[in-house]
Amino acid sequence: MLRDSFGRVATDLRVSLTDKCNLRCTYCMPPEGLDWLPKPELLTADEIVRLVTIGVEHLGITEVRYTGGEPLLRRELVDIVARTTALSPRPQVSLTSNGIGLARLAEPLAAAGLDRVNVSLDTLDPGTFKRLAHRDRHADVIAGLAAADAAGLRPVKINAVLMRGINDHEAVPLLRWALDQGYELRFIEQMPLDAQHGWSRADMVTADEILRLLSDGFDLTPDDLEERGSAPAERFLVDGGPDRVGVIGSVTRPFCGACDRVRLTADGQVRNCLFATEESDLKTAMRAGASDDELAERWLAAVARKRAGHGIDDPSFLQPSRPMSAIGG
Ligand code: SAM
Repeated sequence: MLRDSFGRVATDLRVSLTDKCNLRCTYCMPPEGLDWLPKPELLTADEIVRLVTIGVEHLGITEVRYTGGEPLLRRELVDIVARTTALSPRPQVSLTSNGIGLARLAEPLAAAGLDRVNVSLDTLDPGTFKRLAHRDRHADVIAGLAAADAAGLRPVKINAVLMRGINDHEAVPLLRWALDQGYELRFIEQMPLDAQHGWSRADMVTADEILRLLSDGFDLTPDDLEERGSAPAERFLVDGGPDRVGVIGSVTRPFCGACDRVRLTADGQVRNCLFATEESDLKTAMRAGASDDELAERWLAAVARKRAGHGIDDPSFLQPSRPMSAIGG
């Protein structure tokens, strides 16, 4: 098992399939984009499946989430999902996506065995979307969500980041719309992971503020019945339930003590935390001929070194040199 020195066990693997994205969300990257990884640096589909297989069959991984960058941009995605769901024991397989292209891919992904999808949507207003993501693709995201729902990739979850003066007035309408559509909405605090290093604590809309904003339209009560476990979202019953909303207070309400995640970047580096400053290079070892056992050993050692917490509140905190799009969110 992937156990760290604090006794936490990593069972949830986040795999970035590409660092490229077709949006330019301001909290993630600059409008001009980034220097993408050169193709030879990217893991091939076979290399991804080999590492995921080691994780699932030898290291106790039970959940695999494909992300990026934008995972729908990876041409072999359906094949990678099909090969992942064919593993034994079969892991839960999900996707985090901006939804662009899901209208076309939801059905094939469901047929490949994909269990669930999280789609990022920060606004109901196409103009705000364009301002925020620097692309006029709001309608594609809405169509992608509907296609995911129709394909049975439920519960369809939506991730929303609120930004002061941009979309923080949309907390209530976003939740009302999501509930009407049957989607499960989760608000995420903005984290210091943007390539431009523009994050500031003062500008961040905190979990407390999100709950205050929501209380203007809804009566929220903590969902005590549901065991939170390692789930990052604190869940609240909306108007007595059964509808729920999640709030992920990654910065102000960290959940590192229950973290069960480990990440694999698109260029084959194991990261034991979103905010890790060190990585462990499985790609080079794999390409140099390392056996499955040797790769598993490296992976175990990387997780063993996981720190107690992300340390954003520590004066010595350093933002990771890679942005969220390159790590895999
Ligand atoms: N492209 C996909 C998407 O849009 O969901 C997957 C990758 S994206 C990095 C994954 C999630 O991270 C999205 O929900 C996005 O909103 C969120 N995200 C990106 N940068 C963030 C930041 N600085 N703080 C909080 N969430 C962030």
